[in-house]
Amino acid sequence: MAKRVVLLGAPGAGKGTQAKMLIEKYKIPQISTGDILRKAVADGTPLGKEAKVIMDSGGLVSDKIVLGLVEERIKQPDCKAGFILDGFPRNTAQAEALDKILANTGTPLTIALNIDVDMNDLLKRLTGRRTCKKCQQMYNIHFSPPKKDGVCDKCGGELYQRDDDKEATIKKRLEVYTQQTAPLIDYYSKKNIMKTVMGVGSINDIFNKVTAVLG
Ligand code: AMP
Repeated sequence: MAKRVVLLGAPGAGKGTQAKMLIEKYKIPQISTGDILRKAVADGTPLGKEAKVIMDSGGLVSDKIVLGLVEERIKQPDCKAGFILDGFPRNTAQAEALDKILANTGTPLTIALNIDVDMNDLLKRLTGRRTCKKCQQMYNIHFSPPKKDGVCDKCGGELYQRDDDKEATIKKRLEVYTQQTAPLIDYYSKKNIMKTVMGVGSINDIFNKVTAVLG
């Protein structure tokens, strides 16, 4: 059966990491609105320029922009086999709009999976996060440092800290999560598709828990 999955969880909960492992296992695409937006920023498109200011502040890009991106992506042929939404929806309006898009094609979500992590852990994870400029491999200077400071183990690329991983922005992102995104747990619980795993332990431990739930 096709898996149409929403990954929920605060910034830093490990959604992106788990999504990257899940796409290998299930051979379905990851749709990360954060990644799509970051690419638009890097490409310097008008949309990217508009989004960057908001992303750097820790706020949410407008629903209209994000919905347009998701709707276009979800209609691609590779999503017929299923998909993993990572970082979308971020609020109830987006969740409702997504339900409508999927109802039109008769392909509703099959599961919403929440990766639950304690707030103090999240702060440490986010402030320690570093990404490779070349291959996007992620590290954490506290938990999974590269062998050589600032250099990617895999490709030798330079590691950098995302602009939105700076402390003030992180606080704002966590606040936005609590106020706007956390209510989606209730939203999907009411639809009987909500599952939660605790996002503690090694990446592989969490992956085992996640795949046990996804089947
Ligand atoms: P992420 O990598 O998912 O943490 O996203 C990074 C930033 O991109 C967020 O802090 C938002 O500014 C923006 N963003 C990503 N996904 C969404 C979304 N579904 N709705 C609005 N803004 C988003």
